[in-house]
Amino acid sequence: MTLESTGTSSPWFALGHDHRLILEQVERFARDRFWPVQERMDTEEWWPDDAFPALGEAGYLGCTVPTELGGAGLDFFSSALVAQALSKWNPAVGLAVLAHENLCLNNILANGSPDLVERFIPGMSDGTIVGALGLTEPGAGSDALGSMRTTARRDGDHYVLNGTKLYITNGPIADVVLVYAKTTPENGAHGITAFAVETDTPGFEVAQKMIKMGFRGSQTAEIVLDGCRVPVENVVGEVDKGVRVVMSGLDLERIGLAFMMIGMCERALELSVDYAKSREQFGQAIGTFQFVQGMVADIYAETESLRAFCYQVGAEVNDLEHGANRQHVSKRAAAVVLQAGLVLMRCVDRAVQIHGGSGYIWEMEVNRLYRAGKLLQIGAGTNEVRRIIIARDLLGR
Ligand SMILES: Cc1cc2nc3c(=O)[nH]c(=O)nc-3n(C[C@H](O)[C@H](O)[C@H](O)COP(=O)(O)OP(=O)(O)OC[C@H]3O[C@@H](n4cnc5c(N)ncnc54)[C@H](O)[C@@H]3O)c2cc1C
Repeated sequence: MTLESTGTSSPWFALGHDHRLILEQVERFARDRFWPVQERMDTEEWWPDDAFPALGEAGYLGCTVPTELGGAGLDFFSSALVAQALSKWNPAVGLAVLAHENLCLNNILANGSPDLVERFIPGMSDGTIVGALGLTEPGAGSDALGSMRTTARRDGDHYVLNGTKLYITNGPIADVVLVYAKTTPENGAHGITAFAVETDTPGFEVAQKMIKMGFRGSQTAEIVLDGCRVPVENVVGEVDKGVRVVMSGLDLERIGLAFMMIGMCERALELSVDYAKSREQFGQAIGTFQFVQGMVADIYAETESLRAFCYQVGAEVNDLEHGANRQHVSKRAAAVVLQAGLVLMRCVDRAVQIHGGSGYIWEMEVNRLYRAGKLLQIGAGTNEVRRIIIARDLLGR
């Protein structure tokens, strides 16, 4: 058998020039701008109000938005790299941006009417409008669609929304929330519609800001919709076709979350190496002990393998139309976010171990990484849901 060129592109192993530049630029920006405030954000559960405008001004919002709408006109892979870079230096900012970009902006851009796109996308791209996604409810988490109780009843040229949304990232600071509600409840998951709900609409209320164990700077809310009248023009996509909107965005969100975890693993490694070199016991740096060396080496090896998998899946979906080839993409997205969550928790666990007692102290950066990490095995579909998606595809069930 002779080997012949098929004319297809080479195997892809490294970032190209433009992607490398984006990663380096955003990393520098995030380190200078957001790393210094991460301790205050965590301790006080504080969100810096100038964060979104600053990100918009720097050109790091609206990554995939065409330039004529005020975006950066980049590809999906670039937006995932932005999430990686931000999360390395301030995971709470990384999460807030992911919720804004992937969960809200991209869905309005891909599914919204020209009027909605015109009204929201330029402002979301310059950071003057902050977005969020309202899907989860007190009784509807993993079964978000089937168990949804929020309803939207047509009344003239409005829909009247009633219900409660829980754990909504950016909820307390958002200007627009992409809310899912049942317009035809008797049709179950096939009677759900997506709405762009402006948060100053009467009947929209942030019932409480939720206190979290990690990602504490990222603001999380319980939202109550009580007779909230939303104009029919604010329907995103088609009435009763909300499942299509939510599912097409979810895969990209999962891949974005996995990229965030590369950044967090990288930071866990840097902190561990620094500590292993500087901390002395028994008259020598702890990094001279083989047990500590082993933990550092394992964080490195796992981070590198995670990066390779993430970049591979990121490249695979990069050129796909929004929501195309869904079954294959969903399996790959679920696999990469599952693996990322497992790797991250192993890496931050080792990193805290290397730091000994100091790693257990609340204000330490490594402690923040450890506390934050657990969410990434729960949000956007738990580990179990991710495994179900993968197994369903592999086993055809
Ligand atoms: C900090 C934070 C931010 C969030 N941000 C947002 C947001 O911005 N917007 C939004 O809409 N939602 C958001 N969420 C919600 C998140 O997506 C849900 O918490 C998640 O989907 C799990 O739902 P649940 O918490 O109701 O858990 P449940 O669904 O009640 O699950 C409880 C346990 O049961 C397991 N389980 C459930 N069903 C099955 C099954 N069929 N087979 C096996 N095991 C199963 C789960 O894996 C889990 O271990 C956020 C959550 C948190 C904590």
